[in-house]
Amino acid sequence: MSKTMKAFVMKKIGEAGIIEKPVPTDPGPNDAIIKTTAALVCFSDLNTIKGACGDRTDLTLGHEACGIVHQVGSAVTFVKPGDRIAAAAITPCYRCNNCQRGFSSQCKEFLGSWEYSTIKDGNFAEYFHVNDADTNLALIPDGVSDEAACYATSIMSEGFQGAEDADIILGSSAVVFGLNPVGQMAIAGARLLGAGLIIAVDNAPKRLELSKEYGADVLINFNETDVVKEILRLTNGDGVDSVMETMGTQASFENCIKVTRPGGTIANIGYHREGEYLKIPRLEWGAGLAEKNIKTSLCTGGSDRMSRLLRLIQTDRVDPTKMTSHHFKFDEMEKVFWMMENKKHNMFKPLITFTNQPPI
Ligand SMILES: [Zn+2]
Ligand SMILES: [Zn+2]
Repeated sequence: MSKTMKAFVMKKIGEAGIIEKPVPTDPGPNDAIIKTTAALVCFSDLNTIKGACGDRTDLTLGHEACGIVHQVGSAVTFVKPGDRIAAAAITPCYRCNNCQRGFSSQCKEFLGSWEYSTIKDGNFAEYFHVNDADTNLALIPDGVSDEAACYATSIMSEGFQGAEDADIILGSSAVVFGLNPVGQMAIAGARLLGAGLIIAVDNAPKRLELSKEYGADVLINFNETDVVKEILRLTNGDGVDSVMETMGTQASFENCIKVTRPGGTIANIGYHREGEYLKIPRLEWGAGLAEKNIKTSLCTGGSDRMSRLLRLIQTDRVDPTKMTSHHFKFDEMEKVFWMMENKKHNMFKPLITFTNQPPI
Protein backbone atom coordinates (compact mmCIF):
# COMPACT_ATOMS: atom_id res chain seq x y z
CA MET A 1 0.00 0.00 0.00
CA SER A 2 1.26 3.49 -0.82
CA LYS A 3 2.24 5.83 1.98
CA THR A 4 -0.13 8.66 2.75
CA MET A 5 0.30 12.30 3.65
CA LYS A 6 -1.86 15.17 4.76
CA ALA A 7 -3.21 17.55 2.11
CA PHE A 8 -5.47 20.59 2.40
CA VAL A 9 -8.04 20.18 -0.36
CA MET A 10 -11.12 21.71 -1.93
CA LYS A 11 -13.69 18.96 -1.29
CA LYS A 12 -16.35 20.66 -3.38
CA ILE A 13 -17.50 24.25 -3.99
CA GLY A 14 -17.67 25.97 -0.60
CA GLU A 15 -15.98 23.17 1.34
CA ALA A 16 -12.30 22.60 2.17
CA GLY A 17 -10.32 20.63 4.73
CA ILE A 18 -7.35 18.38 5.46
CA ILE A 19 -7.54 14.81 4.16
CA GLU A 20 -5.12 11.90 3.74
CA LYS A 21 -3.81 11.34 0.22
CA PRO A 22 -1.18 9.02 -1.26
CA VAL A 23 2.31 10.54 -1.34
CA PRO A 24 3.16 11.23 -5.00
CA THR A 25 5.85 8.84 -6.22
CA ASP A 26 7.74 8.02 -9.41
CA PRO A 27 7.95 11.41 -11.13
CA GLY A 28 8.12 11.39 -14.92
CA PRO A 29 11.62 11.64 -16.43
CA ASN A 30 11.58 15.46 -16.40
CA ASP A 31 9.71 15.90 -13.13
CA ALA A 32 10.33 15.95 -9.38
CA ILE A 33 8.65 15.31 -6.04
CA ILE A 34 9.16 18.01 -3.43
CA LYS A 35 8.89 17.73 0.35
CA THR A 36 7.15 20.96 1.33
CA THR A 37 8.75 23.18 3.99
CA ALA A 38 6.78 26.45 3.70
CA ALA A 39 3.93 27.94 1.72
CA LEU A 40 2.04 31.20 1.50
CA VAL A 41 -1.71 31.38 1.39
CA CYS A 42 -3.19 33.43 -1.44
CA PHE A 43 -6.65 34.96 -1.56
CA SER A 44 -7.06 33.23 -4.90
CA ASP A 45 -7.08 29.93 -2.94
CA LEU A 46 -10.18 31.26 -1.18
CA ASN A 47 -11.74 32.17 -4.53
CA THR A 48 -10.95 28.70 -5.84
CA ILE A 49 -12.88 27.16 -2.92
CA LYS A 50 -15.79 29.44 -3.78
CA GLY A 51 -15.82 28.02 -7.31
CA ALA A 52 -13.75 30.56 -9.30
CA CYS A 53 -12.18 27.71 -11.29
CA GLY A 54 -15.27 25.49 -11.29
CA ASP A 55 -16.09 22.51 -9.10
CA ARG A 56 -13.31 20.19 -7.97
CA THR A 57 -13.27 17.05 -5.84
CA ASP A 58 -10.46 16.70 -3.30
CA LEU A 59 -8.06 18.87 -5.31
CA THR A 60 -5.09 20.02 -3.21
CA LEU A 61 -4.91 23.81 -2.95
CA GLY A 62 -1.85 26.09 -2.77
CA HIS A 63 0.63 27.40 -5.36
CA GLU A 64 3.28 29.50 -3.54
CA ALA A 65 5.68 27.08 -1.88
CA CYS A 66 9.21 25.94 -1.37
CA GLY A 67 10.75 22.77 -0.04
CA ILE A 68 13.41 20.11 -0.32
CA VAL A 69 13.81 18.00 -3.45
CA HIS A 70 12.70 14.49 -2.49
CA GLN A 71 12.85 12.56 -5.76
CA VAL A 72 13.79 13.42 -9.36
CA GLY A 73 13.14 11.85 -12.76
CA SER A 74 15.94 10.27 -14.80
CA ALA A 75 16.40 13.30 -17.11
CA VAL A 76 16.52 15.97 -14.36
CA THR A 77 19.98 17.52 -14.05
CA PHE A 78 19.60 20.97 -12.45
CA VAL A 79 18.33 19.82 -9.06
CA LYS A 80 19.01 16.73 -6.95
CA PRO A 81 17.47 15.22 -3.83
CA GLY A 82 18.25 17.30 -0.76
CA ASP A 83 18.41 20.68 -2.58
CA ARG A 84 16.44 23.59 -1.09
CA ILE A 85 14.21 24.93 -3.84
CA ALA A 86 11.49 27.46 -4.64
CA ALA A 87 8.76 26.08 -6.93
CA ALA A 88 7.24 28.54 -9.40
CA ALA A 89 3.48 29.05 -9.03
CA ILE A 90 3.04 28.50 -12.73
CA THR A 91 4.67 25.52 -14.41
CA PRO A 92 5.00 25.98 -18.18
CA CYS A 93 6.27 23.18 -20.41
CA TYR A 94 8.68 25.50 -22.29
CA ARG A 95 8.08 23.42 -25.41
CA CYS A 96 4.64 24.39 -26.79
CA ASN A 97 4.08 27.17 -29.34
CA ASN A 98 3.14 29.80 -26.75
CA CYS A 99 6.23 28.99 -24.72
CA GLN A 100 8.46 29.08 -27.80
CA ARG A 101 7.07 32.49 -28.76
CA GLY A 102 8.12 33.85 -25.37
CA PHE A 103 4.75 33.73 -23.62
CA SER A 104 5.44 30.88 -21.24
CA SER A 105 2.88 32.06 -18.71
CA GLN A 106 0.27 31.47 -21.43
CA CYS A 107 1.37 27.85 -21.91
CA LYS A 108 -1.56 25.50 -22.37
CA GLU A 109 -5.15 26.56 -21.94
CA PHE A 110 -7.01 27.46 -18.77
CA LEU A 111 -5.44 30.45 -17.03
CA GLY A 112 -2.23 29.87 -18.94
CA SER A 113 0.10 27.60 -17.04
CA TRP A 114 -1.38 28.11 -13.58
CA GLU A 115 -1.99 24.43 -12.96
CA TYR A 116 -1.52 24.01 -9.21
CA SER A 117 -4.89 24.00 -7.47
CA THR A 118 -6.75 24.53 -10.75
CA ILE A 119 -6.12 21.32 -12.71
CA LYS A 120 -3.48 19.48 -10.67
CA ASP A 121 -2.76 19.06 -6.97
CA GLY A 122 -1.18 22.14 -5.43
CA ASN A 123 1.34 22.37 -2.63
CA PHE A 124 -0.68 22.62 0.59
CA ALA A 125 0.49 19.06 1.19
CA GLU A 126 3.47 17.38 2.77
CA TYR A 127 4.73 16.45 -0.72
CA PHE A 128 3.90 17.71 -4.20
CA HIS A 129 4.75 16.93 -7.82
CA VAL A 130 6.45 19.43 -10.18
CA ASN A 131 6.49 18.97 -13.94
CA ASP A 132 9.65 19.95 -15.85
CA ALA A 133 11.72 20.39 -12.70
CA ASP A 134 14.82 21.84 -14.37
CA THR A 135 12.88 24.84 -15.65
CA ASN A 136 10.29 25.29 -12.91
CA LEU A 137 12.47 25.08 -9.78
CA ALA A 138 15.11 27.52 -8.50
CA LEU A 139 17.77 26.81 -5.91
CA ILE A 140 17.37 28.98 -2.80
CA PRO A 141 20.63 30.85 -2.17
CA ASP A 142 22.33 30.80 1.23
CA GLY A 143 20.99 33.46 3.55
CA VAL A 144 17.51 33.48 1.98
CA SER A 145 14.82 32.02 4.23
CA ASP A 146 12.10 29.66 3.04
CA GLU A 147 9.61 32.36 3.98
CA ALA A 148 11.24 34.95 1.71
CA ALA A 149 11.74 32.42 -1.08
CA CYS A 150 8.01 31.61 -1.17
CA TYR A 151 7.36 35.18 -2.31
CA ALA A 152 9.60 34.67 -5.37
CA THR A 153 7.31 31.88 -6.61
CA SER A 154 4.41 34.21 -7.40
CA ILE A 155 3.83 37.53 -5.62
CA MET A 156 7.16 39.15 -6.46
CA SER A 157 7.11 37.80 -9.98
CA GLU A 158 3.64 39.16 -10.73
CA GLY A 159 4.17 42.54 -9.04
CA PHE A 160 7.54 43.06 -10.74
CA GLN A 161 6.03 41.95 -14.05
CA GLY A 162 3.56 44.81 -13.67
CA ALA A 163 6.40 47.29 -13.21
CA GLU A 164 8.31 45.81 -16.17
CA ASP A 165 5.22 45.81 -18.41
CA ALA A 166 4.44 49.42 -17.45
CA ASP A 167 7.59 50.60 -19.28
CA ILE A 168 9.06 52.45 -16.31
CA ILE A 169 12.18 54.44 -17.13
CA LEU A 170 14.52 56.39 -14.86
CA GLY A 171 12.75 59.32 -13.26
CA SER A 172 9.33 58.58 -14.77
CA SER A 173 6.04 58.79 -12.88
CA ALA A 174 4.09 55.71 -11.84
CA VAL A 175 0.96 54.81 -9.92
CA VAL A 176 -0.19 51.49 -8.44
CA PHE A 177 -3.92 50.96 -7.95
CA GLY A 178 -4.53 48.44 -5.16
CA LEU A 179 -1.98 47.60 -2.48
CA ASN A 180 -2.62 43.89 -2.07
CA PRO A 181 0.61 41.84 -1.96
CA VAL A 182 1.01 42.02 -5.75
CA GLY A 183 0.47 45.79 -5.59
CA GLN A 184 3.12 46.14 -2.88
CA MET A 185 5.59 44.32 -5.11
CA ALA A 186 4.58 46.51 -8.07
CA ILE A 187 5.60 49.48 -5.91
CA ALA A 188 8.92 47.78 -5.07
CA GLY A 189 9.46 46.95 -8.75
CA ALA A 190 8.76 50.55 -9.80
CA ARG A 191 11.31 51.73 -7.25
CA LEU A 192 13.94 49.23 -8.40
CA LEU A 193 13.40 50.18 -12.05
CA GLY A 194 14.00 53.84 -11.19
CA ALA A 195 10.62 55.59 -11.22
CA GLY A 196 11.03 59.16 -9.94
CA LEU A 197 7.51 59.53 -8.55
CA ILE A 198 5.55 56.57 -7.19
CA ILE A 199 1.92 57.07 -6.17
CA ALA A 200 0.13 54.37 -4.15
CA VAL A 201 -3.69 54.12 -4.18
CA ASP A 202 -5.80 52.07 -1.75
CA ASN A 203 -8.41 52.62 0.96
CA ALA A 204 -6.72 50.70 3.80
CA PRO A 205 -4.40 52.84 5.95
CA LYS A 206 -2.21 49.86 6.89
CA ARG A 207 -1.62 48.88 3.27
CA LEU A 208 -0.87 52.49 2.37
CA GLU A 209 1.66 52.69 5.22
CA LEU A 210 3.34 49.44 4.13
CA SER A 211 3.69 50.73 0.57
CA LYS A 212 5.92 53.54 1.87
CA GLU A 213 8.41 50.90 2.98
CA TYR A 214 8.51 49.52 -0.57
CA GLY A 215 9.07 52.94 -2.14
CA ALA A 216 5.77 54.85 -2.48
CA ASP A 217 6.28 58.63 -2.39
CA VAL A 218 2.64 59.74 -2.25
CA LEU A 219 -0.26 57.86 -0.67
CA ILE A 220 -3.86 58.38 -1.81
CA ASN A 221 -6.79 56.94 0.13
CA PHE A 222 -9.58 56.64 -2.44
CA ASN A 223 -12.25 56.79 0.26
CA GLU A 224 -11.11 60.28 1.17
CA THR A 225 -9.75 61.76 -2.03
CA ASP A 226 -10.80 62.06 -5.67
CA VAL A 227 -8.04 59.86 -7.06
CA VAL A 228 -8.12 61.09 -10.65
CA LYS A 229 -8.13 64.76 -9.70
CA GLU A 230 -5.31 64.28 -7.23
CA ILE A 231 -3.08 62.34 -9.63
CA LEU A 232 -3.62 64.94 -12.35
CA ARG A 233 -2.84 67.68 -9.84
CA LEU A 234 0.39 65.91 -8.80
CA THR A 235 1.49 65.65 -12.44
CA ASN A 236 0.58 69.19 -13.54
CA GLY A 237 -2.42 67.92 -15.44
CA ASP A 238 -0.34 65.55 -17.61
CA GLY A 239 -1.13 62.22 -16.00
CA VAL A 240 1.43 59.53 -15.22
CA ASP A 241 3.72 57.58 -17.52
CA SER A 242 3.10 54.15 -16.02
CA VAL A 243 0.05 52.65 -14.33
CA MET A 244 -0.23 49.28 -12.59
CA GLU A 245 -3.71 47.95 -11.88
CA THR A 246 -4.14 45.16 -9.31
CA MET A 247 -7.70 45.66 -8.04
CA GLY A 248 -9.64 44.05 -10.86
CA THR A 249 -12.63 46.38 -10.67
CA GLN A 250 -14.36 48.47 -13.32
CA ALA A 251 -13.92 51.66 -11.26
CA SER A 252 -10.21 51.12 -10.82
CA PHE A 253 -9.69 50.15 -14.47
CA GLU A 254 -11.45 53.31 -15.60
CA ASN A 255 -9.33 55.44 -13.30
CA CYS A 256 -6.22 53.86 -14.79
CA ILE A 257 -7.24 55.05 -18.27
CA LYS A 258 -8.08 58.51 -16.95
CA VAL A 259 -4.73 59.12 -15.21
CA THR A 260 -2.44 57.75 -17.94
CA ARG A 261 -0.81 60.39 -20.08
CA PRO A 262 -0.85 59.98 -23.88
CA GLY A 263 1.86 57.49 -24.80
CA GLY A 264 1.74 55.96 -21.33
CA THR A 265 1.27 52.33 -20.41
CA ILE A 266 -1.23 50.53 -18.21
CA ALA A 267 -0.10 47.14 -16.90
CA ASN A 268 -3.02 45.04 -15.75
CA ILE A 269 -1.96 42.55 -13.07
CA GLY A 270 -5.36 42.29 -11.38
CA TYR A 271 -7.82 39.43 -11.71
CA HIS A 272 -11.15 40.79 -12.98
CA ARG A 273 -13.99 38.96 -11.30
CA GLU A 274 -17.21 40.80 -11.83
CA GLY A 275 -19.06 41.98 -14.90
CA GLU A 276 -19.28 40.48 -18.33
CA TYR A 277 -17.31 43.30 -19.97
CA LEU A 278 -14.80 45.94 -18.93
CA LYS A 279 -15.69 49.37 -20.24
CA ILE A 280 -13.06 51.87 -21.35
CA PRO A 281 -13.93 55.58 -20.95
CA ARG A 282 -13.88 56.70 -24.59
CA LEU A 283 -12.80 60.33 -24.35
CA GLU A 284 -10.06 59.75 -21.77
CA TRP A 285 -8.75 57.02 -24.08
CA GLY A 286 -8.54 59.62 -26.84
CA ALA A 287 -11.38 57.80 -28.63
CA GLY A 288 -8.87 54.99 -29.06
CA LEU A 289 -6.19 57.26 -30.55
CA ALA A 290 -4.24 58.49 -27.51
CA GLU A 291 -1.55 55.81 -27.60
CA LYS A 292 -2.52 54.74 -24.10
CA ASN A 293 -1.39 51.13 -24.15
CA ILE A 294 -2.85 48.31 -22.07
CA LYS A 295 -0.78 45.22 -21.32
CA THR A 296 -1.81 42.14 -19.39
CA SER A 297 0.18 39.35 -17.84
CA LEU A 298 0.10 36.33 -15.56
CA CYS A 299 3.08 35.91 -13.25
CA THR A 300 6.03 34.80 -15.29
CA GLY A 301 7.72 31.73 -13.89
CA GLY A 302 10.88 29.90 -14.81
CA SER A 303 14.00 28.96 -12.94
CA ASP A 304 16.05 31.84 -14.33
CA ARG A 305 13.52 34.52 -13.39
CA MET A 306 13.02 33.09 -9.90
CA SER A 307 16.79 32.98 -9.40
CA ARG A 308 16.98 36.69 -10.23
CA LEU A 309 14.16 37.48 -7.81
CA LEU A 310 15.89 35.45 -5.11
CA ARG A 311 19.09 37.39 -5.76
CA LEU A 312 17.23 40.65 -5.08
CA ILE A 313 16.23 39.22 -1.70
CA GLN A 314 19.74 37.93 -1.00
CA THR A 315 21.31 41.32 -1.72
CA ASP A 316 18.72 43.19 0.39
CA ARG A 317 17.18 45.08 -2.52
CA VAL A 318 13.75 44.03 -1.29
CA ASP A 319 12.38 42.25 1.77
CA PRO A 320 9.04 40.65 0.88
CA THR A 321 8.65 39.16 4.38
CA LYS A 322 7.36 42.53 5.61
CA MET A 323 4.10 41.38 4.02
CA THR A 324 3.80 38.25 6.18
CA SER A 325 0.94 39.01 8.55
CA HIS A 326 0.52 35.64 10.30
CA HIS A 327 2.39 32.39 10.96
CA PHE A 328 0.64 29.03 11.17
CA LYS A 329 1.49 25.35 11.25
CA PHE A 330 0.13 23.22 8.42
CA ASP A 331 -2.35 21.42 10.68
CA GLU A 332 -4.01 24.80 11.36
CA MET A 333 -5.04 25.28 7.71
CA GLU A 334 -8.75 24.96 8.34
CA LYS A 335 -8.54 27.76 10.92
CA VAL A 336 -6.56 29.93 8.48
CA PHE A 337 -9.25 29.70 5.82
CA TRP A 338 -12.01 30.27 8.35
CA MET A 339 -10.21 33.44 9.46
CA MET A 340 -9.72 34.60 5.86
CA GLU A 341 -13.33 33.88 4.95
CA ASN A 342 -14.63 35.72 8.00
CA LYS A 343 -12.14 38.59 7.59
CA LYS A 344 -10.60 38.08 11.03
CA HIS A 345 -7.38 39.66 12.27
CA ASN A 346 -6.48 41.57 9.08
CA MET A 347 -5.09 38.61 7.18
CA PHE A 348 -2.69 39.90 4.53
CA LYS A 349 -0.23 37.12 3.75
CA PRO A 350 -0.28 34.08 6.08
CA LEU A 351 2.80 31.83 6.09
CA ILE A 352 2.36 28.11 6.64
CA THR A 353 5.22 25.96 7.87
CA PHE A 354 5.38 22.19 7.60
CA THR A 355 6.87 20.19 10.43
CA ASN A 356 6.64 16.79 12.12
CA GLN A 357 6.36 14.95 8.82
CA PRO A 358 6.41 11.21 9.00
CA PRO A 359 9.64 9.73 7.57
CA ILE A 360 9.18 8.27 4.10
ZN1 LIG B 1 -1.25 33.37 -5.41
ZN1 LIG C 1 4.19 25.50 -22.97
